[in-house]
Amino acid sequence: MIPFFDLKSQYKGIASEVKAAIEDTLESGWFILGERLKSFEEEFALYLGARCAVGVGSGTDALTLALRAVGVEAGDEVVTVANTAIPTISAIKGAGAKPLFVDVDPETLTMDPVLLEELLERKAKEGARVKAAVPVHLYGQAADMDGIMKAAGKYGAVVLEDACQAHGAEYKGKKVGTIGKAGAFSFYPSKNLGAYGDGGMVVTDDEQVAEKLRLLRNYGQSDRYHSVVDGVNSRLDDIQAAVLSVKLKHLDAWTKRRRELAALYCSLLDADRVKLAVEPKYSKGVYHLYVIRHRERDALQAYLQDNGVETLIHYPIPIHLQEANSSLGLAVGSFPATELAAGEILSLPIYPELTEADIEKVATLINAFDA
Ligand SMILES: *Cc1c(COP(=O)(O)O)cnc(C)c1O
Repeated sequence: MIPFFDLKSQYKGIASEVKAAIEDTLESGWFILGERLKSFEEEFALYLGARCAVGVGSGTDALTLALRAVGVEAGDEVVTVANTAIPTISAIKGAGAKPLFVDVDPETLTMDPVLLEELLERKAKEGARVKAAVPVHLYGQAADMDGIMKAAGKYGAVVLEDACQAHGAEYKGKKVGTIGKAGAFSFYPSKNLGAYGDGGMVVTDDEQVAEKLRLLRNYGQSDRYHSVVDGVNSRLDDIQAAVLSVKLKHLDAWTKRRRELAALYCSLLDADRVKLAVEPKYSKGVYHLYVIRHRERDALQAYLQDNGVETLIHYPIPIHLQEANSSLGLAVGSFPATELAAGEILSLPIYPELTEADIEKVATLINAFDA
């Protein structure tokens, strides 16, 4: 059986380092907003080339608090894509805003800058200003940032990057998360850089945004017993930060391995039978997911499962068609590229611990599939 994730074998390779870091934190007696968090924030900021990094409780909170920190208020409108993970929208709603959507580019499956500009223009004509745009660097590939920044800049929308799947991915040589006003990262265990629990981070070059985030994550307190804004409790704890410091040192090697395995899939899979994963020219992807497309996707997935290969779908139901979003009144047909992709996409196993033989097995099976 080739499982979709395997966090146990990664742990085996780094167990002694991780145990030492946890032990060291336990002995320090300091678990919240301590030295280990501060160190990891500095290391992560340095890794990405951002000025500031603020650790929070999850990727969802990173998005929610970053939206609030850049000035999104209750009732504001925030635009994103329907082809994303549910938490992108949980965060927009969590900040009190109303989500708007634009379709994705049919090839890259990330935010289409032309459609973004059209929406912002239409809204501007109605006399409304969309407060923020949230492009998602889906599957670990950079979204088309130049066009997105230009469109957003023209209509005064702040850009917040959802980089929760894209630790270390590059857009034209620049790490994603550092291009917009702020970038949000998740350290959910199965992400490319994963904690042993929940965690998240916001990066920004804007000291004021960072300062606001430090208030928001800690009850809105400027110092103990002084509340200056309405805040929450959402902090990356020091045990997770210590673990993440250990793992960050391995991230580039893990990413290199993911890219090698992706290249192997590309060379082995028969491109006449399946559409291979897309890496746009402007993107250096980190392959959080390796997503192929096939018209008979459900049959292909069942066949792979029967032959010992676990796959997943990211994501089977577009966000605008989710029950929780029925009140937005967006029917089937609203976002054709997203809806077409949802019926064809299939995520194959890809993580650094897989062997070349594993990839060959998956590719050979797919090439022999007869729908
Ligand atoms: C994982 C993920 C999130 C949320 O991260 P959590 O840490 O699980 O809250 C948000 N957006 C995208 C695209 C994700 O993949």
